[in-house]
Amino acid sequence: MSIPHEVRASVAVTQEQHFCGDLPLAAMPRLSEALADDAQSVSVDLMADTRSGWPRLHGSLSGTLQLQCLRCDRVYAWPLNAQLDLRLVESEADEDSDSIGSADPYWARADRLPLRELVEEEVLLALPMLPRCETCENAVLAALPAPGVEPVAKRENPFAALKQQLKAKQDQGSGPTE
Ligand SMILES: [Zn+2]
Repeated sequence: MSIPHEVRASVAVTQEQHFCGDLPLAAMPRLSEALADDAQSVSVDLMADTRSGWPRLHGSLSGTLQLQCLRCDRVYAWPLNAQLDLRLVESEADEDSDSIGSADPYWARADRLPLRELVEEEVLLALPMLPRCETCENAVLAALPAPGVEPVAKRENPFAALKQQLKAKQDQGSGPTE
């Protein structure tokens, strides 16, 4: 099954639609730009339902992406394995209500659920900020001073910050284009 561009959020959750299939990387321009090669696809396995008590889109995105190492320029295979758990919200009131469990709120504006765009964004968020092949990653790790908690904490912060930024942007600007 090919992944539709967009579905109606309300219909997807009521009918408990299952979106399962390969989405070619070439169909996601912003993502292909970030990759060394866009010949592959992302395996999408997403379910929409309200079984948890709220409209939800959840599942996984996987595949092998070709990234270019920042340090040695070599192209290497990077395994994508992203879990998605979105709580579909339609209004600010919904969004303000305390986040339930681990689900991130996602604004389904005007009942629109742009699946491909959403997959593209999630994969972009999952990409490493500093792509490094295994050899270089090991070299960099070996060059670090003493192992400690600090480097780990430092590595995670930029991702969280980026995710916040992207979410904020999405909340402001991804309404229907007039
Ligand atoms: Zn490298």
